[in-house]
Amino acid sequence: MKIFERMEVRDYENVIFCYDKASGLKAIIVIHDTTLGPALGGTRMWMYNTEEEALEDALRLARGMTYKNAAAGLNYGGGKAVIIGDPRKDKSEALFRSFGRYIEALKGRFITGEDVGITVQDVEYMRYETKHVVGLAETSGDPSPVTAYGVYRGMQAAAEEVFGTSDLKGKKVAIQGVGKVGYTLAKYLNEAGAKIIVTDIFEDNVKRVVEDFGAEYVKPEEIYGVDCDIFAPCALGGVINDETIPQLKCKIIAGSANNQLKEERHGDILQEKGILYVPDYIINAGGVINVADELEPSGYNRERALRKASMIYDTIKSVIKKSKEENIPTYKAADRVAEDRIKAIAAIKTNYILK
Ligand code: NAD
Repeated sequence: MKIFERMEVRDYENVIFCYDKASGLKAIIVIHDTTLGPALGGTRMWMYNTEEEALEDALRLARGMTYKNAAAGLNYGGGKAVIIGDPRKDKSEALFRSFGRYIEALKGRFITGEDVGITVQDVEYMRYETKHVVGLAETSGDPSPVTAYGVYRGMQAAAEEVFGTSDLKGKKVAIQGVGKVGYTLAKYLNEAGAKIIVTDIFEDNVKRVVEDFGAEYVKPEEIYGVDCDIFAPCALGGVINDETIPQLKCKIIAGSANNQLKEERHGDILQEKGILYVPDYIINAGGVINVADELEPSGYNRERALRKASMIYDTIKSVIKKSKEENIPTYKAADRVAEDRIKAIAAIKTNYILK
């Protein structure tokens, strides 16, 4: 891979390779854009087949964080790190402390936390060596309730657009995956008087929502074809694809899962079919909003995190407006909203201020 050419195409700032013989650490930190502030993004540990694959993942994820943080109204740029290794076999205190020292050396240009393959304990080890980590057990804790609230607010914004009211009373919502986010989302929807249809591959998870909120259950493969107003993917990525789109009967897609569109063109198809797709990285930003709140000078405050997540409603409205004005699908409009904010803030930073 021609790394500088790759960096040039999408304007990456830094790619940092970290190696430590003693602990076996092999990691890549990518900082995409720090116009809005220090890069904020999780660290992933994965058994990449090749170094190119690891680098490619880090580059893609780091850029994704620039857009997610910008659209969420956060004063953070985008970055991400990957550690090459098997999370079940290759972890040690020394490995994470060694990684923590690399983070510390960046002096706050990159702030990280948990992602796939990383636990709170691993972040605790990084914390021994650096203060630039977030998401420890005693601080912001589990982000999923805030994520679920953001999804609920995003759903209300989409409903106002499509049904003329943000009131979800009587609306049928099909939730795919009732884990941490899906369960709390079901709670909000139940309180709002929506009819809930759910599926999950774990019976216990299904039982909980059926008992607690009177949800109806369908088999996992049946969820796409459910007669509903809103489909909420809260399990896996890639679920909006050539096989599932023809089955959909909903008017809105709004859920927490990352990378819901298998390919970008599926976002175009949804637009042609008149299904409003609420871009995943905008509606599921509650998690990063929650963790970013830890970095406020006054320390973490859940009420404030929920208040900020509530503004996902307004962000979705701006995305829909842009999509209509420019006649582009919502997934593209989301990127424009993020890019516009970065450009606007970059433009006010041209005058000199003594620091
Ligand atoms: P989770 O693991 O608690 O829940 C996911 C649920 O989906 C589980 O109950 C699982 O059994 C179910 N599931 C898996 N495959 C399925 C299938 N084929 N059909 C039906 N159900 C299936 O995870 P979570 O924290 O609730 O996150 C859900 C999604 O939202 C994930 O894609 C995650 O990346 C994304 N997300 C989560 C947060 C957060 O704060 N937790 C933030 C942003 C994005």
